[in-house]
Amino acid sequence: MNWLEFSNLLWFIVFVSLVAFVMWSCLSSIKFVWKYWKEWNTHPKYNPIEIYVHHGRVVSVRSDLKGHHREFCLCYNDCVRFNPGTPYNCEIARALYEFNMKYDLVTPVWECPEYTKYFQDQKGKEINE
Ligand code: SF4
Repeated sequence: MNWLEFSNLLWFIVFVSLVAFVMWSCLSSIKFVWKYWKEWNTHPKYNPIEIYVHHGRVVSVRSDLKGHHREFCLCYNDCVRFNPGTPYNCEIARALYEFNMKYDLVTPVWECPEYTKYFQDQKGKEINE
């Protein structure tokens, strides 16, 4: 191998190393961006609205409120008028349920003029006020 061939081989090695370094840098950058993009897209701190399938329909919901509907809804908080699945169910609750079913919504009742709390005395006997 003469000096010219050796020099060409050296330049070729430098060139291949440079290309490999640039490709590695690009891939690392893409991996970095992909990781943080995924995290940003799913982390409740950055994106509090999540999307999931509920009753066969894709819906959006605030992550911190997902599944807490019954905790907040007045109907589920000891309202004596709330009797789902019976003929004695509250007219408002029934209408709201039908509305929710029609549009695939979840709408807790925050305020209600008809709310009546269900009380029990010590022996478990109902006392309704
Ligand atoms: S009266 Fe109001 S809180 Fe009670 S079940 Fe009906 S809608 Fe719900």
